[in-house]
This record gives sequence, structure tokens and C-alpha cells, in this order.
Amino acid sequence: MLIGLWVTILGTCIVPELPEVETVCRGLRPYMEGKVLQNVVLHRSNLRNPFPPMFAERLQGQVVSKINRRGKYILVELPDYTWMMHLGMSGRIQRSSVADYIHQKHDHVVWQVDDMTFAFNDARRFGDMDLLPKGQMCLPIKTMAPEPFEIEAGDFYKRLQRTTRPLKTSLLDQAIIAGLGNIYVCEALWQSGLSPFKVSDSITLKQTQFLLKNICEVLERAIQSGGASLRDHKTVEGTLGYFQHQFRVYDQKGTPCLTDKCFGTIKREAQSGRSTYYCSTCQKN
Ligand SMILES: [Zn+2]
Repeated sequence: MLIGLWVTILGTCIVPELPEVETVCRGLRPYMEGKVLQNVVLHRSNLRNPFPPMFAERLQGQVVSKINRRGKYILVELPDYTWMMHLGMSGRIQRSSVADYIHQKHDHVVWQVDDMTFAFNDARRFGDMDLLPKGQMCLPIKTMAPEPFEIEAGDFYKRLQRTTRPLKTSLLDQAIIAGLGNIYVCEALWQSGLSPFKVSDSITLKQTQFLLKNICEVLERAIQSGGASLRDHKTVEGTLGYFQHQFRVYDQKGTPCLTDKCFGTIKREAQSGRSTYYCSTCQKN
């Protein structure tokens, strides 16, 4: 039985964002925290970057004290190191019993904990892993803004006032708010009635407060959906697919806008090389 700690939406894979990474962390914790890492095997020498020297040897025998998340980084706390993982564009972690594990194409890092095998599978290899000495963090995490659930609206507002870039571009900037990607930014802007093209420093404090509330709501809904699927599937034999929720604006080009009393249609436009989905009728502010 393979259980993919990953994301499918109507059968298509998407790039993991904060809710997906949070769901992976929640899926790993019960099986890994307080347990010893065993039989760590690397099947190649790199992902996006080369693995650090003696990577498998240094993981071997370490006891996992805690699994944390910062932005889209998974942080596995060990006595001597923090094992940093990033899922990149296509990374996923699959869990199976040791007896049932069958090596799959793109299983690059495999480890065991008790009678479970975990495989980090990454077809496109934009994922990343590193071992950081205790107390040290990699640069992207050092410069990362607070998490959406932790940032104060006043602080978020100040960060947005420092830039004239389009609002959507700013929300993807991990130095302004952590963990957001294309999907949830589109969803949160739509729910807030804010234009993705709005100049960032023209946002008011009141709009910022409303936007932050909606960002948290959109993320929470996604995490709950992933969590619910994890629970539902614990008793079910077979593959876990989750995040089956329907997006309201992302990937909905040409469909009627769902905002109450709005008769607009969802549009798609390229913005900073990414697809922006929005309603030009109700997202005018
Ligand atoms: Zn609309």
C-alpha cells in the first residue's frame, strides 16, 4: 500500500504551496517524531543542488525530535542537525510498509523508520535537501517574512508600502509574506475583491487587514481539506489522493465569477511569467 503525501486536484499534480507542505508535515509527524532514521539510501548525487557530503551517513541513526515547517520548507529536527527539505515543483514523499515498498522511478532518497519506508520522489528534481548545523538556517529562511498565521496586519501593511510592484507579485515574495504561491494568492485576492495588478503601496490598512484574513481563511480551508483526506484514508486500503477541493478562481478561466451579485467571467493573464486568474468585474479595487 503506497500512500502518497501529495496533492492531486482532479487528477492533475500542482506545485506544492504552504497547505500542501503543512499536510506533508502532518502526515510525517506520527510516524517519524521520536523515532530513529534507519537505512538511509541515496539513489543519485543531487536534486536541484548536490546533496551535502556524507549525507546518508550523517542522517543514519539520528533521532527525529520534531518536524516543523517554515514557509514551504520542511525542517526535520535531529540532535546534531536540521534536515531541510523542499519539495520544489514535483517533490512528494511516499510512505509504505517496509515489506510492501517497491522502488519507483524518481525515488531519490529512501529511509526507514520502524517498519515504514519513506521515499522522496521528485521527477523534475527542483526539490532540495540539506543538513544545517543546529541553530543555523539557510539564507531563504533567514530572510523570510513571518507566516500568514503569525504576521500582524500592521507589519504586513508596512511591507506592502515599501514596493510599487503589482500586488500579486508582492504576495509571492517570501520577504513580504511566507509560503504563498500562485494558487492561493489568486484565491485570496479574488476573495478580497482586490485587483492582482493593483500597485502594492496603494493598498489601505483596512484592505490589508481584509486581505490577510482571507489569506488565512483560504490556507486554513486547504489545510483542513488535506487533513480531512489524511484522516479519511487512514482506514482505507490504497492510494491517498487529497486536496480534491474545487478552486473558485484558480484554473477557472471562462467560468462565471462566484462572487455574490457579480456577473463577471474569470480571466487568465500572464503576470511575471505566471498565470493570474481573476475577475475584472469585482476585482477592480
Ligand atoms: Zn466577479
